[in-house]
Amino acid sequence: MSTTFTIVDGPQVCPRRVEAPYQITEPPDSWQVRNDSEGRGLGNGLVCCSYCGSLRPEDFMEMIRRGYYVAPTDKNYKVYVGRPLTDEEREAYKQMPHIKELLDAGVSESELTIPQHRDEAKFYFQHLSEEQKREFVDRYNARNKQSYPEYGMKLAYPGHFYRLPFFMVRAPEGEPK
Ligand SMILES: [Zn+2]
Repeated sequence: MSTTFTIVDGPQVCPRRVEAPYQITEPPDSWQVRNDSEGRGLGNGLVCCSYCGSLRPEDFMEMIRRGYYVAPTDKNYKVYVGRPLTDEEREAYKQMPHIKELLDAGVSESELTIPQHRDEAKFYFQHLSEEQKREFVDRYNARNKQSYPEYGMKLAYPGHFYRLPFFMVRAPEGEPK
């Protein structure tokens, strides 16, 4: 498999540089499109940071607005971004031999956790501006309400952040969430 990159924006300096014990390339960094020959790698065809591989923040926010899933990780600075699977893709998943076998044996679909999305990129929160952090938090707080897509966010399993992003704090008990 070969991977090529095309610079589309920048220069920029990746905010994750200051946290790294060593520097993998010299600044400035750029925003570039990653092209995998097999077309399957994370970030493929998307604009990502040349230093850390994160999605470009404005694209990350736009994908959330368009209904992409945000998938939590055990890191307080990282999430995956997943494209919602189409009905056809979910149907194809159910036709896979080992899944079909279970369904035929009477296991219910809810017990199988059929995937809702496919991860397409990673995002590092260090890249968010203050304004984008505010929108992200507002959308997270509205995630279970009926206000999607105008205000909300689709959060993948388990439906909340078990490790909160570093820029978020829990509201004190008794205060409006
Ligand atoms: Zn970066």
